[in-house]
Amino acid sequence: MQKKTYVIALDAGTTSVRAFLYDVEKGAFVYGARQEVGQSFPQPGWVEQDANEIFFKAAYALNACISRADGEIAGIGIANQRETVVLWDKETGEPVCPAIVWQCRRTSEMCANLPEEIVSRIKEKTGLLPDAYFSASKIKWVLDNVPSARKLREEGRLAAGTVDCYLLYKLSEGKVFATDVTNACRTMLFDIHTLEWDEELLAYFGATREMLPRVLSSDADFGTALIGGSRIPLAGAAGDQQAALFGQAALSRGDGKITYGTGLFLLFNTGEACVSSGRGMLTTIGYRVGGRTVYALEGSAFNAGSAVQWLRDGLEILPSSAESERIALSVEDSGGVSFVPAFTGLGAPHWDSEARGLLCGITRGTTRAHIVRAVLESIACSARELLECMEKDSGISLREIKCDGGASANNFLMQLQADILGVAVNRPAELESTALGAAYLCAISCGLMDVEEVARRRASERVFSPSQDRSKAEEVFAKYLFAVRRALFKG
Ligand code: ADP
Repeated sequence: MQKKTYVIALDAGTTSVRAFLYDVEKGAFVYGARQEVGQSFPQPGWVEQDANEIFFKAAYALNACISRADGEIAGIGIANQRETVVLWDKETGEPVCPAIVWQCRRTSEMCANLPEEIVSRIKEKTGLLPDAYFSASKIKWVLDNVPSARKLREEGRLAAGTVDCYLLYKLSEGKVFATDVTNACRTMLFDIHTLEWDEELLAYFGATREMLPRVLSSDADFGTALIGGSRIPLAGAAGDQQAALFGQAALSRGDGKITYGTGLFLLFNTGEACVSSGRGMLTTIGYRVGGRTVYALEGSAFNAGSAVQWLRDGLEILPSSAESERIALSVEDSGGVSFVPAFTGLGAPHWDSEARGLLCGITRGTTRAHIVRAVLESIACSARELLECMEKDSGISLREIKCDGGASANNFLMQLQADILGVAVNRPAELESTALGAAYLCAISCGLMDVEEVARRRASERVFSPSQDRSKAEEVFAKYLFAVRRALFKG
């Protein structure tokens, strides 16, 4: 019998860390282990995590996979929550303070008051828009507020890195201090054109080159992990959204994917062209594999599935998120009702943090089914707003969109999305795109697969084609845009 070969995909997310055993020949996950990770909220708007906990739980999940493998484990590939930053002592591996999570807003004011020349440098070099979301201002906050961090920096012992970097460091017992390009490009310190740390941004945010990891390709050989007595190659790493793009095999210019989770993340592959947006989209590195850098435009809506959650837990008009499909289908249309999911403001292309949610067009005949339908319509419409910006920025038309995330299970929503976008929505057989991306990067790094094989392995579960007559969908979108104008605070 042929010996089995596995790779392990480690998906270090915000709420949980999961490890999956991927059977390379079979092309499938055969086992998964999950550990919840805590978060703390010490002040309004602050979000922290314990980096040690992330590491211990990752090690636990990895061990669970290792003990299940009845064959060789060729390597471990990592996908991770992005932007979250850990600062630690290189000699002991101990963090100097809790990890500052991507959602944390403690540096909002710092980012709102950046000097003009720094703002333009950020836009020009990093492809990002200055925001507390990215790692740079979080690093500066630690240096300004944690005396031991400054002392370690002076002694050349301080390390700063994203979650992948910390895990690589700990899993290799301090031997590896590296990250991949897709994670580096979310720090707001990395020049996405030259693939180098930007000296001017480093100086402004108080970081030094010594503090920051080496930046390698997404399919790099990162070193070796010592785990549960075994030595396993650390091979391949990417930020979670980019890993999902790769896992979905959105590998050609004009390919895109939408992840429908709490929020909605759209990544659009622009090939080797680094397209900058005039419409509030971010330019990001999609992946660097086989020495080739592929860029992407990224747009996100803060609220998508969270609006369905609000119907369930806030209004209590839904027994479960999944029930939204049946209830929406029980009516012909939303009966003139429109919804804008601006619970925490509106992101791209409006960027209005004071905007708030809106339910409008209500009559005496409005029922919960109309409201549920309007909420699902708003998710599909916000995706179209993002996509229109990207198509205008890049001059590329989308051929088809690949979907994943919890709410992509909703058939009504996916069909509506196809109608609203006018392109097919393709749902994969394996919905764990992020973990799949990490598994593929690892298999490529280990020489077990090539990029062409990733495309061959992409299996669709269902393709939603746009309806012949899209006039109804156009009406829904027009109504949504009208509601958005009313929801804007800026007017
Ligand atoms: P995250 O990774 O952001 O936690 P998930 O990908 O697990 O999110 O998706 C969960 C979100 O998707 C929740 O907000 C939930 O309300 C929504 N959701 C899950 N299933 C459905 C469904 N069938 N229809 C609509 N929304 C759904």
